[in-house]
Amino acid sequence: MAAVEINCPACGRETLLRREPCFEGLRKTGEALSCASCGHLFADESQIPYKSAPQTPELFDESDRSPAADVFDGDETRRLCRHCAHYTVNPFLQWCAQHRREVEATDTCPDFEDGGGKDEEE
Ligand SMILES: [Zn+2]
Repeated sequence: MAAVEINCPACGRETLLRREPCFEGLRKTGEALSCASCGHLFADESQIPYKSAPQTPELFDESDRSPAADVFDGDETRRLCRHCAHYTVNPFLQWCAQHRREVEATDTCPDFEDGGGKDEEE
């Protein structure tokens, strides 16, 4: 059984829920829910102070999204290295002849020079 994390109100610790079957004679009557650290007994499931999942603040929702956040919009796509005149590609690497360094097809560059779309493959 997966460990259940709780914030125990009795001992104040982040600890685990201990779940033990209760017997009346030989008959199982229920489960005792207690704190694994201090043994504090919880009356029933609704009393269990489950450790809340880490808060993920929802800073952004769809309505906040500005269109400017989309970098692959408009002009930007035309400044990609794969469209640049200095971009060369061989089986081992993609190379910028202008900066003499390895590049990615999806890099953008301030020294972009339009390659005239000669390497359009799509
Ligand atoms: Zn406790």
